[in-house]
Order: sequence, then structure tokens, then C-alpha cells
Amino acid sequence: MKTLAVHIVNFFFPPQCLSCNVIVPKHGALCTTCWHKVRFISAPMCECCGLPFSLADAGPRCAECLHTPPAFARARSALVYDDGSSILITRFKYSDLPQFGEVYGQWVAHAARELVSESDVVIPVPLHLWRFVSRRYNQSAIIALALAKTTGLPTWLEGLTRTRPTAHQTGLSRKERANNVRGAFIVTPKYQEQIRGKNVLLVDDVYTTGATLNACATALLKAGALRVNVATLARRTSE
Ligand SMILES: [Zn+2]
Ligand SMILES: [Zn+2]
Repeated sequence: MKTLAVHIVNFFFPPQCLSCNVIVPKHGALCTTCWHKVRFISAPMCECCGLPFSLADAGPRCAECLHTPPAFARARSALVYDDGSSILITRFKYSDLPQFGEVYGQWVAHAARELVSESDVVIPVPLHLWRFVSRRYNQSAIIALALAKTTGLPTWLEGLTRTRPTAHQTGLSRKERANNVRGAFIVTPKYQEQIRGKNVLLVDDVYTTGATLNACATALLKAGALRVNVATLARRTSE
């Protein structure tokens, strides 16, 4: 019976490629052309921030992590943020397609599998109020929920709160980004007791310079979290 229902749904709403909308065999998939355009991140990578290395790079840490270690312990991302994946992110952000979250949650769970096993709770980066209004939903929360569904970890969707509005990070230098978000997050009062001693998996859609993730990790550690790891859908690999 379930199979019949699936056939009926597929007849009226045929599965479409997540990126270009051509018909594909199942929901939540990419067509072959788009599949070849996205780059999944795999080893070798910086053991700390997950930046993919070319085979010529010497590990185990990238220059940035050696020079300025982040507040979070480790970060892992599913995709390189480039022309192939940015279409996926933009569609996910600005179209009303939260169903994309399920497959992205699975990709993130796979990329961050080592971190999942040492985490107690999943917390998404909170959205600006004005972004929430303009976008209707928080894509970090969608990924966090999907990740929680795949891994069985609990999720505190409102674990973090913004304390003030921050300027848009686009176009800012690495230093300006860090200053822009410093102190902009706190652990939400109702979780301030529970956060103590927890291993947190912090989730966002894109890791750009890591400034926002660092500010969130700092807030979580300040409130007593034992360790913060980061999982994102995509990762910018150049400035
Ligand atoms: Zn496609
Ligand atoms: Zn690194």
C-alpha cells in the first residue's frame, strides 16, 4: 500500500533534481550532471577545521588553525562551497523548500560522523530576526533537525540567542567579520543550567571564515559546555 502511495505521489509530484529541477529517479537527489558539479569534502583535510588539503599540503593543521586556533574543537563540512554547491545553498535559503533539509542532514551527518559520536546535543546557529522574517525559516535549524533525525541526537533549536543585530557578513574582511559577531550570541537562559558539561554539535549552512561559528562556540564554552564541534553543509575554501 505504501508503495502505491509513493507511486501516486511521484506521478503528481515527480522527483526533481535538487539543483536544476530535471526529473530524477527519487526525491532528494541530484541529476548526474549536477552530481558531477558538487565536490564532497574528503581526507586529507585540516584535523581541526576540516579545510580540505591537496595531497601536496603538509598536515595535520592548516596555517590558520596553527596561527589562531578556533574556539571550537573540530569542524567538518559536507561540500566545498563553489559554483556547484552555491546553487543548492541559495535554493535552500531562498526558496520555500525545507524538504531539501533531509538529504542535506544525511550529507552533514556523514561528513561529521566522527563528531556525532562524541556529541550530546545539536544546536543550530540562530538566525537574525530580520532574516527570519524575510526568509520564513532557518536553514541551519532545518539541517540541525534533519541531522538529529538521522543521528538520534537531541536538538535545542533555541539553544543560542542573538544579543544584538549584526551587520551582514558579506564583503567584510576576516577581521571585520570577527569584530562584527564578537559577543553577539549567548546561551538562551532556559538552557544555561543544562549546557554545563555538554558536548555540543553546532550546525550552520555555510562555514565562511568561521567568525560566526567561533562567536557561537565561545558563548557555549563560556556558559559551561565541555566541548563544541561544528558541522556545516558547505565550506568556503578560499578567501
Ligand atoms: Zn540537476
Ligand atoms: Zn584548519
